[in-house]
Amino acid sequence: MQELHTQTLTQLAAGMQRGDFSSVELIEVLLGRIESLDQSLNAFITVTADAALAAAARADDARAAGDAGVLNGLPVVHKDIFCTKGVTTTCGSRMLENFVSPYDATIVERLAAAGAVVLGKTNMDEFAMGSSSETSYFGPVRNPWDRERSPGGSSGGSAAAVAARLAPAATGTDTGGSIRQPAALTGTVGMKPTYGRVSRYGMVAFASSLDQAGVITRSTEDAALLLGVMAGFDQRDSTSIDRPVPDYVASLAKSLKGLRIGIVRQHFDAGLEEKTAAAVRESLAVLEAQGAILTEVDLPNLDLSVPTYYVVAPAECSSNMSRFDGVRFGHRAKDPEDLFDLYCRSRGEGFGAEVKRRIMTGTYVLSAGYYDAYYLKAQRVRQLIAQDFNKAFAEVDIIAGPTSPTPAFRLGDKTDDPITMYLNDIYTIGANLAGLPAISTPCGFVDGLPVGLHLVGPHFGEETVLRCAHQYQQQTDWHEACPEGYQ
Ligand code: GLN
Repeated sequence: MQELHTQTLTQLAAGMQRGDFSSVELIEVLLGRIESLDQSLNAFITVTADAALAAAARADDARAAGDAGVLNGLPVVHKDIFCTKGVTTTCGSRMLENFVSPYDATIVERLAAAGAVVLGKTNMDEFAMGSSSETSYFGPVRNPWDRERSPGGSSGGSAAAVAARLAPAATGTDTGGSIRQPAALTGTVGMKPTYGRVSRYGMVAFASSLDQAGVITRSTEDAALLLGVMAGFDQRDSTSIDRPVPDYVASLAKSLKGLRIGIVRQHFDAGLEEKTAAAVRESLAVLEAQGAILTEVDLPNLDLSVPTYYVVAPAECSSNMSRFDGVRFGHRAKDPEDLFDLYCRSRGEGFGAEVKRRIMTGTYVLSAGYYDAYYLKAQRVRQLIAQDFNKAFAEVDIIAGPTSPTPAFRLGDKTDDPITMYLNDIYTIGANLAGLPAISTPCGFVDGLPVGLHLVGPHFGEETVLRCAHQYQQQTDWHEACPEGYQ
């Protein structure tokens, strides 16, 4: 039998069904790996070993009683931005270091109801603000492909855990690329659904009009499986959309014959590293050989997406972060002189530099004299970008390109230069501004480091996005590669 930690969720589900192993056996293997290997990665903020073993035992009982959900006994890890009852939810921040939520996020609840077993909570950029998982109060996450490098971010802990085979699947959140970019940089699959497809209830808000929950896995089949459980209407999220959830797994099988794939001219401009471009071009040829039709499309306002995002996201962030004041939520400074001192010192001590930078930018663009010039203008450009995508999707079914302009960069390389860090999301941010579903799937290596192919679909085009990535994985084995030392 293939070793348990090397198997995908889909393989593990079949094995457990056959009775090859129990959930308790599986969870013990993975907890053992986390214990011995996570020191090298710092992918976890919290490991919930006892609760996981207890849940696994319950799952084994449920199976024996003939009462097993689709994810019965299967392990997942949650980004530490999802509220979990009785377990800390830190958001990678000192501000929430000791915060224990009184309730579970909707997706935590849904995965648990399907029988999933949670191994722990993963490390991340503070409040999901970052592209490298270095802004975490709990220290940076390391990339299993090269521990001197970043796994990307902000869902870097989830991506590193899946890449290193510490867990077969993880949840993540994506506001500007935080699922797809770390997936690309760690050789995993990262899926961000349509805005409104998956509930945001119990997911700590960063930029509410852009935030979306999704998954990081090693195969598209697993992404489809998890998404099917997580997706669907939730009346506790006012932006949740009431629309039936298709059978994502069933839709994977259809061939790519006749699928129209748009290649964005601007994607292959100067910013894209040459070998990464070559890997992406090669993957497009694979899709073409499978019967897809490649055509060029134009996203004329693409270069405005990063500046637009860095007005809209900080604006919403500054508003969302106001609840962390040491009174309602979060770290409270000791011995305050008065209320003002309490607010100032609690926030001063609780937040790290990147969060403060965003709060200041956001407050500025929302302030009376500047609102029209910055915030309103950015909202208008956002509409233009969304229209560009709509026009493109009148002609193609999918838009394909690179996920990230370079492979994983060295830890510390971009921390002094926020603009270079921000530019890392140039290819992913558009999908968030327009609310579109998108996936990153491994498509090759550059100097020993994985790179990703990015596929974007029209609203509620999850099935097409997943199918395209899945069919690509039938012809390639990049997604099966495992980093040295984690086999
Ligand atoms: N890197 C982007 C940022 O720092 C996106 C983060 C995210 O998607 N959460 O805002």
